[in-house]
Amino acid sequence: MKIYNFAAGPAMLPESVMRKAQAEFIDYQGSGSGILELSHRGKFFQPVIDRAEANVREILNLSDDYAVLFIQGGASMQFAMLAMNFLNGGTADYVDTGVWSNKASKEAKMFGNVNVVASSRDDKYDHIPAQDQWKLTPGAAYMHITSNNTIAGTQYFNLPEAPAGVPLIADMSSDIMSRQFDASKFGMIYAGAQKNLGPAGVALVVLRKDLAERTDSTKVPTMLRYSTYIEDGSMFNTPPTFAIYLLALVTDWIKENGGLAGVEKMNNEKAKILYDFLDDSSFYSCPVKGLDRSRMNVVFRTPSDELDAKFVSEATAAGLTQLKGHRLVGGCRASIYNAMPVEGIVALVDFMKKFESANR
Ligand SMILES: *Cc1c(COP(=O)(O)O)cnc(C)c1O
Repeated sequence: MKIYNFAAGPAMLPESVMRKAQAEFIDYQGSGSGILELSHRGKFFQPVIDRAEANVREILNLSDDYAVLFIQGGASMQFAMLAMNFLNGGTADYVDTGVWSNKASKEAKMFGNVNVVASSRDDKYDHIPAQDQWKLTPGAAYMHITSNNTIAGTQYFNLPEAPAGVPLIADMSSDIMSRQFDASKFGMIYAGAQKNLGPAGVALVVLRKDLAERTDSTKVPTMLRYSTYIEDGSMFNTPPTFAIYLLALVTDWIKENGGLAGVEKMNNEKAKILYDFLDDSSFYSCPVKGLDRSRMNVVFRTPSDELDAKFVSEATAAGLTQLKGHRLVGGCRASIYNAMPVEGIVALVDFMKKFESANR
């Protein structure tokens, strides 16, 4: 049976990437050793990390003002690391759009003041707060947003501008490289790889290089300074070689699929099929406001918690796996990142129709 995996992360990878990694796992390009067994300083790995970086630069259209870094510890370590490097007892603006942005601001509080400029908490995070209502801090150390809210199922379609001189920082863990956007508007972008880029454990960090000079190097440990990663090409110590290798393969795949314009088109098509179906249905409902609905994580419910559980279990049996909503919010969630083919969405909608007629 064909399995479609709707996991929120670690999430499915493109099948061609999995096959290539499978072959190179045993013998990397005739070296006689598998990719995991090769030295990060040797002649085989350097081209891999160089290609990963070049792919990121090309896909995001980055100028030389930006560094592309690969850092262990996932997105969650970036919550603390960015504040350690840039906050320095100052004030940073955070937009509260859900669990992840909360976790980010909680870490930042250890290194300075956090000003929550807007929040949709009182509405169970069913929308992105209107930008004209944000109360920004003049001269803030930076402004932080979560571009896609993996748990709540919301996404910014209008990426904000920070006030002049204030770097805009975005956690793009769950929508990085899923659509076109202007990276030059950002001081820093970071993303755990396990949703759209590869395996868990590594974070991709895109950083405007001049910002790294703001770090007090007498107070921030070597491994937690961005400047260390810039100076040593993300190889001050042994980097997560397998994760970087897979990120190179996934970004090759994005390029083969038309870059951001290509994947955006597929993602819009996929999300439209699912949301159109949800909107036409009186059985299923989507709690998220229309304009802010995520094209990566589609949250929905059946008429009851019992039916939600039955839905998830019968869907799994039908080959549609990992549709359970996040434990904090319940319900169901279909994560439909870049690697999910349109056939997976069609199969899901088909199953949803059958489930509805059997249970309404
Ligand atoms: C998954 C996720 C994280 C956490 O990533 P880790 O790599 O597990 O630390 C952070 N932010 C967002 C938006 C996420 O979706």
